[in-house]
Amino acid sequence: MQISDILKTNERGVAFEFFPPKTAQGKQALLETVGILKHYKPLYVSMTYGAGGVTQEYTKDAVSLLLKEQTLEVMPHLTCVGANAGAIQGLLDDYRKQGIDNIMALRGDPPKECRDFDFNKQEFSCARDLVRVLKAAGHFCIGVAVYPQGHIETDTLEQDMEYTKLKIDAGADFAVTQMFFDNTYYYALLERMHKKKITIPVLPGILPLTDVTKVKQFASLCRATIPRSIEERMERYRGNPADMEKEGIDVTIELCRDLVKNGVNQFHFFTLNKPKVITAILDAIR
Ligand code: FAD
Repeated sequence: MQISDILKTNERGVAFEFFPPKTAQGKQALLETVGILKHYKPLYVSMTYGAGGVTQEYTKDAVSLLLKEQTLEVMPHLTCVGANAGAIQGLLDDYRKQGIDNIMALRGDPPKECRDFDFNKQEFSCARDLVRVLKAAGHFCIGVAVYPQGHIETDTLEQDMEYTKLKIDAGADFAVTQMFFDNTYYYALLERMHKKKITIPVLPGILPLTDVTKVKQFASLCRATIPRSIEERMERYRGNPADMEKEGIDVTIELCRDLVKNGVNQFHFFTLNKPKVITAILDAIR
């Protein structure tokens, strides 16, 4: 089923993003995580592609693993990194045969091992190129990424929104945001999109706060900032990871509750394949 239809017919709900495991142990952990999170009846589940140094082939295997849970709507991510039209077509045909109806179309980040990697020299140079191909394929509901604090390679939020508009107009059906830790950035993004007459659903991407140093480092790579007040709250528990995580869960619950209060009822959680923190948050906000 197309996610755009699921979002229309389910006023509220959560979606879960996973990453593909490399080892048998990782696969087991993913299955256990899915086994727990499926009880929250997710709107959909998604599987990243080539992110964080994990090679792309693992995604297809992990997608097959998720499809065994027949109740889940599974959305693979796809990036432009190393993509060519023939390979993309082959992958899309396979996915279609497996019953996949949704794809998250992304550019991806330059591979860490290639210092002079240039997207302009790639057959697909940006997510908009992928969206166009997916649109032409005609079968898939298409998700794209959007950036509450602007994408790290853009100079201004206006410039970011100009391109976002082009990407969405190429055929995107819904969007998921990059992580943010100050809801005002999300509300301002919706406002900028509204001004551009963009009307597709925009799910907030929620990364639970756990270890503030790690999250801050990770977030800085994609221009997401942690407000000083939140950092201070968590820093009080330095040296005590369990309590810091507990505080981080509380902060994330507060952020989610504020979103709900402001009419947001559909969420996309970056699970990092770990269920415990996610269930603590969901049990508190539902
Ligand atoms: P694009 O939309 O192509 O934008 C990239 C940059 O190029 C932007 O700065 C944009 O403004 C600029 N740009 C592109 N074309 C033009 C143009 N014609 N004119 C002006 N500016 C232009 N990464 C992975 O590797 N695998 C994943 O599975 C993955 N999943 C993600 C899921 C979510 C929800 C999010 C938010 C991100 C994910 N990412 C993933 C990270 C993503 O790949 C990076 O953020 C990447 O740097 C940009 O991807 P994009 O699709 O937004 O790129």
